[in-house]
Amino acid sequence: MDVINPVNGEKTASYEVMSDEVMMQVLDRTHAAWLEWRTVGFDERSRLMRRAAELLRERSDRYGRMITGEMGKTLKSAVAEVEKCAWVCDYYAENAEEFLSEEHIETDASGSFITYNSIGVVLAVMPWNFPFWQVFRFAAPALMAGNTGLLKHASNVPGSALAIEEVFRDAGFPEHAFRTLLIKGSQVSKLLEHEKVKAATLTGSAPAGSAVASKAGEMLKKTVLELGGSDPYVILEDADLDQAASTCVTSRLINGGQSCIAAKRFIVVEEVADAFTERFLEGMREAVMDDPMIDGVTFGPMAREDLRDELHEQVTRSVRQGAGCLLGGEVPDRSGAWYPPTVLTGVRPGMAAFDEELFGPVAAIVTAKDESEAVALANNSVFGLGAAVFTGDEARGRRIAAEELEAGCCFVNEFVKSDPRLPFGGIKTSGYGRELSYPGIREFTNIKTVYVA
Ligand code: NAP
Repeated sequence: MDVINPVNGEKTASYEVMSDEVMMQVLDRTHAAWLEWRTVGFDERSRLMRRAAELLRERSDRYGRMITGEMGKTLKSAVAEVEKCAWVCDYYAENAEEFLSEEHIETDASGSFITYNSIGVVLAVMPWNFPFWQVFRFAAPALMAGNTGLLKHASNVPGSALAIEEVFRDAGFPEHAFRTLLIKGSQVSKLLEHEKVKAATLTGSAPAGSAVASKAGEMLKKTVLELGGSDPYVILEDADLDQAASTCVTSRLINGGQSCIAAKRFIVVEEVADAFTERFLEGMREAVMDDPMIDGVTFGPMAREDLRDELHEQVTRSVRQGAGCLLGGEVPDRSGAWYPPTVLTGVRPGMAAFDEELFGPVAAIVTAKDESEAVALANNSVFGLGAAVFTGDEARGRRIAAEELEAGCCFVNEFVKSDPRLPFGGIKTSGYGRELSYPGIREFTNIKTVYVA
């Protein structure tokens, strides 16, 4: 596995891929670790998880540099990502016992209740875009629930994958409670076939989700899928346009636009379309694309050149299909995976920028006659991860978010973001199941009914 610096396309490191034999040995050890770990009490689990959080905070600069070097996000955002991982560790250290405590239910039994048991080794297949956060939001609850974890990370972030294993080892977790497998996607099905892998979680694209879920389904194993999105942000005529435009720019450019919950389609009612577009364009123009190690840069290169080429193809296809291009849209003459802030207008269903996920700094502006057409356009997508609505009328915003938008996470006058305290996940082809909060920790447990006559 080669690590290519996305800033200049140079190879910076190389790691050996594990053979199937070594992979299976690690699985055996992770399974053996579970048999012990599941008997460890919550106090001890919490103590170790808090230590992992401390280590993450102490090492945030070192790990941040690793992340930036592997996938190109700004150093500042990489350090913030590592610190957010410390938060999710502390959160589950604090709350796991309560989330998994027995729940008594009155029946005709002398006692009946729900108890949450661990299930064993859970396999996590993860993407490169938030190389630490995606893993920790799975690992912290999984370990606190008494499971053990195996990580198959994206092939372009092996250093981050090994660093995560190091955090848990150095925090004092049993040696094989959380292991990284440096393997290819094609090796995953062998793991899923093994009876010691009890379930799988995948964060990534729909084709990867479909491949892993199909195999897991064949083996009758549970999966949680966190897949792509094309989050619609609806801007209504009574919105504070300055606030809406700056929030939309921030959301579109998070992680250089490579976030599943970045705003992707901006659906603006006609009455304010020009005024919004003008403000939004100004914000996109001000974004600084440069070396991600430098302070003050908005975003760096994309993670890989092939992903940049794919994005550019979607932009040129959208323009051929009739979209206007107000900003960007051209590959810069510079080595590395660079793509500039780009704004497309007049985007309609049937165009790539409307129908597909654009995983980079490209915004699609769509106009709608009124609220009802805007909501219909927002819901006209195969995806259903996040969505937002901007309005000066809070009751109107709540109604649209709670009752009308078809997505797993709907925000009013704010961009969609994950928070350990709130469940996170999607519907339609954005996946199923939830991470974070109490639903997240219960996904990989045996929700056991106990009945005492
Ligand atoms: P990806 O290409 O789907 O890869 C994700 C992971 O799946 C990688 O570890 C990859 O390994 C593995 N993989 C790919 N094909 C596989 C197969 N057939 N069998 C087993 N494993 C397979 O996605 P990505 O480019 O890394 O990430 C971008 C996508 O992730 C976007 O669509 C984004 O929206 C989505 N995403 C979703 C969320 C969410 O929470 N919903 C969060 C972040 C990202 P290799 O690298 O070895 O191919």
